[in-house]
Amino acid sequence: TASANLQTNRRGKVIVISGPSGVGKSTICREALRRLKNVHLSVSLTTRPQGPGERNGKDYWFVSEQEFRERINRGLLLEYADVFGNFYGTPKDKVDEVLQTGQSVILEIDVQGGRQAKAVYPDAVMIFILPPDEKVLADRIGRRGRDSAEVIQRRLDKASAEIASAWEHYNNMVINENLEHAVDEVVQIIERALDGTPSP
Ligand code: 5GP
Repeated sequence: TASANLQTNRRGKVIVISGPSGVGKSTICREALRRLKNVHLSVSLTTRPQGPGERNGKDYWFVSEQEFRERINRGLLLEYADVFGNFYGTPKDKVDEVLQTGQSVILEIDVQGGRQAKAVYPDAVMIFILPPDEKVLADRIGRRGRDSAEVIQRRLDKASAEIASAWEHYNNMVINENLEHAVDEVVQIIERALDGTPSP
């Protein structure tokens, strides 16, 4: 409970998980969350269209650009970024709510957002997921069948740029060659980071 957490001085943390699209971030986050206690996933706001099988309020909160701009103006976003011409952002209230109970929250966001989150929460745990090689990424992005050839190329270009700048802001790099191993590594990184503060 919140009071038990306060008594033991347990402090929750912001955990940023980034990586190029197609690297398997979502799967890794989902599996890691199943194994971590007191760690939640932040649901982002986005102006991009809802994809097939995606659920509003679960995968994202799908909003209009006007609504998104309104949230920015009212200072309700912890961070936000323009990714491929659409806005993505993290609602501040949910993150604060979780942290206040001494629990932790995962932000699955891009590098631009990760940089902003780190500025607000300097003790944020920064994890970057890497593909084993470039070809794997191209295959995975293509196989999703969600994107046109042009969008696929843009995603690959952005992937190279993201990987290049990640070394500056992320001190935990995890290669997703084998899903189970990657999940193990992510769970270990998070547990280690949350360690030293007694469990509730
Ligand atoms: P997708 O459209 O494939 O779901 O996501 C595109 C990119 O936007 C991914 O790299 C994803 O991590 C990033 N993203 C998702 N939510 C947020 C957010 O709230 N803030 C930022 N900065 N990036 C986000």
